Amino acid sequence: MAYLLPTLVRLVIGKSPELICSKDIWDAGVTELHRRTFGRRESGAFLLGKKGRMRRIEKFVFYDDIDPCALDSGIVIIDGRRLGALWAHCRDTGYEVVADVHVHPRGYRQSKSDKANPIIAEKGHVALILPDFAKGSNQPGKIGVFRYLGDRKWSDQSATLFSPLHLGWWPWR
Ligand SMILES: [Zn+2]
Repeated sequence: MAYLLPTLVRLVIGKSPELICSKDIWDAGVTELHRRTFGRRESGAFLLGKKGRMRRIEKFVFYDDIDPCALDSGIVIIDGRRLGALWAHCRDTGYEVVADVHVHPRGYRQSKSDKANPIIAEKGHVALILPDFAKGSNQPGKIGVFRYLGDRKWSDQSATLFSPLHLGWWPWR
């Protein structure tokens, strides 16, 4: 019910989300992100799904599964040469990267490096940041939601009333 109410409110108000994720996929992915931090380093994932009228997150692909050294320095650094496997996976499955997510030790503000190095440098791409090593509730309103505007500029949509990200059931794709 905690997840159904926001769906109904959004439907009534007419504020469709752009990015949707089921509760099960979100909770499992976030739990795994938390586990991979070991409480002392950042972790992250590409969020894969299909782009239709909305972007539906269907799979977390963890950075350290793509590049085993991605988390070694404590912050996320992905070796671009490792990304071939991800693009091949997308080609084979029809998935696309619909967003990305990474975990911070404390708050959810973007670091200088986050702003300067978008994981996907595509206008409109949404990057999510989970605070406190992802051990909190990780609901929209309590996480960082940043839209890439191009040219290393971002729009902070973390505190907007109707977040671009919606967790839970949604009636159409
Ligand atoms: Zn960061």
